[in-house]
Amino acid sequence: MKPPVFEYHAPASVGEAISLLGSLAEAKVLAGGQSLVPLLNFRLARPAHLVDINRLAELTKIYERDGGVAVGAVVRQAEAEVDPLLRERCPLLPLALRLVAHPVIRNRGTVCGSLAHADPASELCAALLVLDGRVTARSQRGERVIAAADFFRGTMDSVLEPDELLTEAWFPATAGPVAIAEEARRHGDFALAGAARAGDRLALFGVATRPLLADPADPTRGLEPSSEPECSPDFRLHLVKVLVERVMQA
Ligand SMILES: Cc1cc2nc3c(=O)[nH]c(=O)nc-3n(C[C@H](O)[C@H](O)[C@H](O)COP(=O)(O)OP(=O)(O)OC[C@H]3O[C@@H](n4cnc5c(N)ncnc54)[C@H](O)[C@@H]3O)c2cc1C
Repeated sequence: MKPPVFEYHAPASVGEAISLLGSLAEAKVLAGGQSLVPLLNFRLARPAHLVDINRLAELTKIYERDGGVAVGAVVRQAEAEVDPLLRERCPLLPLALRLVAHPVIRNRGTVCGSLAHADPASELCAALLVLDGRVTARSQRGERVIAAADFFRGTMDSVLEPDELLTEAWFPATAGPVAIAEEARRHGDFALAGAARAGDRLALFGVATRPLLADPADPTRGLEPSSEPECSPDFRLHLVKVLVERVMQA
């Protein structure tokens, strides 16, 4: 399938990008395109305008900030996976990135694009939540910092407004044990269920409409996974228990 007709914009600065997002109706940000382009091709998204942020050099950095590491909106997943600062200060992120899709997808896909896309089975959304990280969003109305716990609303739905550009994500440095585990039908597929741990904090992914914090002693309390042909709710609950045991023993 070919995508529906759209107008393509390639701003040269963050200021220009947010002014386009603020003035164009039905505009979408194009980052790595690894989720957006398939949605366009399947005609599940029909934006009138695409605002390509790939030329924004301001958003290509990974740097130390406020006792953690900030990752700009154009940083590729593959770059973050091997970044020495992230490996040293926030090792959960590189571990999570190894489980995201395949290397070719990670070569283009961005860390922030995955957060903005808010897939409930995303490893990176769970990592941001369990680490108690945050994202920065900019629009013509100003800048706001949103805690991970307030960011994810539901399936592919966050509190990001259509005119907001997510400029960076911030991950606090961790000292204690971190681990992430998931079960997928094939390597690189979205997880049927997953668990991420940072110290005593635990987050689950792939089991609800958004990533959830859970009690390590009773991780399935309150969970009501949906029934899907390849995975019954009972099987998903069983997976959660096994995966939580695995990450808590790490
Ligand atoms: C075969 C396949 C398997 C995959 N498997 C996994 C997996 O196992 N785990 C996983 O987490 N992901 C997986 N993905 C998705 C992949 O990680 C995507 O790269 C990611 O979800 C989106 O990042 P992107 O940079 O490509 O964003 P895009 O596709 O460009 O954008 C995705 C959405 O986010 C919005 N957006 C992007 N960046 C911003 C921003 N800075 N500000 C505001 N809005 C923004 C876009 O408007 C769009 O709505 C898979 C993709 C494919 C094709």
